[in-house]
Order: sequence, then structure tokens, then C-alpha cells
Amino acid sequence: MTVLIDIVKDQARSENGQRAAALSAKYETMTPQDILRDAIRNEFFGDITLSSSFGADSAVLLHMVSEIDPNLPVLFLDTDRHFFQTLQYRDELKAKLGLQNLVVLKADETEAATEDAKGTLWRTHPDACCDLRKVRPLNRVMERYGAWISGRKRHQSSTRANLPIVEWDGKHFKVNPLAKWTQADLDAYFAQHDLPPHPLVEQGFPSIGCFTCTKPVEQGQDARSGRWADSEKVECGIHNPIYGGEGI
Ligand code: SF4
Repeated sequence: MTVLIDIVKDQARSENGQRAAALSAKYETMTPQDILRDAIRNEFFGDITLSSSFGADSAVLLHMVSEIDPNLPVLFLDTDRHFFQTLQYRDELKAKLGLQNLVVLKADETEAATEDAKGTLWRTHPDACCDLRKVRPLNRVMERYGAWISGRKRHQSSTRANLPIVEWDGKHFKVNPLAKWTQADLDAYFAQHDLPPHPLVEQGFPSIGCFTCTKPVEQGQDARSGRWADSEKVECGIHNPIYGGEGI
């Protein structure tokens, strides 16, 4: 019986992988707005959510989603270590875009008290800190959904250069509608829709995470080079390395 269940699971995994590849091919020539419309209203209707860091580029995807379905659940991982500017920006965008379903996720209090009693895990074991404050809270909520939308882009770093538009990670589909967009595309969208910038962008932060683990970057560096800048860590762990790069 167990063998049969494993065979069925393998088959499902394979079918989902094929579905992700077919959707990626279909979406490659579509605009981000058309990709979102098809994913939200058709392919993953009622079974998809958006994860947003409310960082430097987040307003673009949030604006697009707000025009398609302002009731779509928007997940925000509150690590207790965000810049206060990010929390203010989150509230500003929620009001401006009319987002009706912002879901704030936090680490389990008991797990945080046990695993990070001193609040210094970010310095001693950053992977464990991201797992406690990002990966597990997100995984708990994602039990309810089959797919989620992420704002990752190919131009952000060498580890994201081959990012497909739709991925199957073994449990969920991930839709990356902005994968093909450049910084110029994003800047033009901000201007066209009069979207407010994250206040830290003008201070040299093109990618914004926790204040403990984010530094400003020099002109010409990878946008994400200021994240965990003093370590080998490049991603937080909420995305698996399934496209030849490394997990987030
Ligand atoms: S980015 Fe840093 S502070 Fe934030 S969850 Fe990860 S290790 Fe912890």
C-alpha cells in the first residue's frame, strides 16, 4: 500500500512539474498583468495567494493584483526585525491600493522563546533564524493553498538568472509574473501609476529585508548583494533551489 501511495505521489509530482513547464511556456510571451489575471481567475482560482515583503519593488505587483482582485490574500512575514520604514510603507500601500486581505504572519511564540530566547539567532545561525521567522510561519499558512505569487525577478542576482515564470517545488506552484522585467520596466511602472517608493531606496537599499541582515549596496552591484552581506547566505529559504540557483 505504501509503495502504491509513493507511486501515486511521484506521478502527481511529475504531472505538476509538467504543468508548471507548460504554464511557463505559455506565460513567457504574456505581460505580467495577463499572467496574473490568468493565474488568479483561471488556473489557480480560489487556491492562490501573494507573498510580499513590502520591499523596494513590491508596489508594482501589489498594484497589479489590487486591480485584478483586491481581496486576494497578501501574506506579509513579520519577523520582528523589519525596518520601521517597511512597516509604515506596508500600511501606506495597503490603504492606497485598497488591499482588503493583508495577512500578517509571525513566528510561533513558543518556538521563538525556545529557539531564540536572546534574540541573537540572526547573528549566530541566520539560516535557523529565517527558518523560525519566515519558513515555518509561511509553510503553516501555505497548507491552505496550492499556489503563490512571488515578486522575484531574473535581473536581481546571478542566482535568479534562470528563474522560470512558473515553478513546482514539490508542494506548491509558484508564479513569478515579473521574472522577465528589468529595473527600467519597474521604474516605468512606478512612474506610470504614481506609486510611492519605499523610503529606504533613496538611501541605497535596492533590496530590503530585516534591518539586522540588510546593508546598502554600491552602484553597479547586484541588487541583493546587501542581503546577509557578510556571509555566504544569499536566500532566506522560502524558495527551494529548483531552477539551478539557490533558495531565497
Ligand atoms: S533575514 Fe536575518 S533577522 Fe530576518 S529572519 Fe532571516 S536571519 Fe532572521
